[in-house]
Amino acid sequence: MFRYALLIALLLPSLKGMAADLSLSAPPSIGTAVMLQVTEVPDGARLTGHFHGKPLPFTANHRALLALDMEAKPGSVLLQVELHLPQGPKEVLTKTFLVPPRTYREEPLTLPKTQVELEPETAARAAQETATITATYSRRGGRVGYEEGFQLPVTGRFSGVFGSRRILNGKPRKPHNGTDIAAPQGTPVVAIASGEVALRGEEYFFTGNTLVLDHGDGVLSLYAHLESMAVQPGEWVAAGTPIGTLGKTGRATGPHLHWSVMVRQDRVDPQLLPGILPATASAAALQ
Ligand SMILES: [Zn+2]
Repeated sequence: MFRYALLIALLLPSLKGMAADLSLSAPPSIGTAVMLQVTEVPDGARLTGHFHGKPLPFTANHRALLALDMEAKPGSVLLQVELHLPQGPKEVLTKTFLVPPRTYREEPLTLPKTQVELEPETAARAAQETATITATYSRRGGRVGYEEGFQLPVTGRFSGVFGSRRILNGKPRKPHNGTDIAAPQGTPVVAIASGEVALRGEEYFFTGNTLVLDHGDGVLSLYAHLESMAVQPGEWVAAGTPIGTLGKTGRATGPHLHWSVMVRQDRVDPQLLPGILPATASAAALQ
């Protein structure tokens, strides 16, 4: 189940004589989450760390999900891992990555005026719903469900790419913070990893029927425009469990799943999550 496209062992020169190593599922890049595995951890050691200036939570199996937001600046990014041993001083592993720039494409989109220029009441309601969704992204801790990697929520045609600069009826909007997958109405949508249902939003103005799953440590996934929802807030769902069906509720031009993933509030490309990448590459090849 731990399907990594690429395992890069980072043998650190500073670690000569020490056993612990860092390995990553892919090099860190903008708008991407990659899995870190610390190997050869001495018995009883506790791990802490920082990545790109933020605290990095570790699982019991010494894994951590490193993320860079879609609008993070290119340049040098520091990973620091501390091993707190039961006896003796703590050991510190560091690695610096040079992160290249990422460019996103522009995507013109035309929608009916009533869906773009909102009445004040509708705008207030939509803002409240957005705030409710955003609040779930500040969740931390919780049961860990992400460390085995991720899977696609539905198979279909990738109809909207992550990061595209949307030009809505001629006006620039916020970048697209997820991936759109088009498939027939009613197609089952499954949990991309095990997690707790953090939000079940009914008929939201923009995102329609909306589910948010909490995979622990600030890793959350959102599923929008669902036709139906099969899970309740607080419920724990295993990876691959159907959570609803694909639809076109909310502001959608046709049946599709809008799917986004946050890692401690960093917006990351769902298609590039550990475990997803090979499936995405093969799906792209078929198009
Ligand atoms: Zn979308």
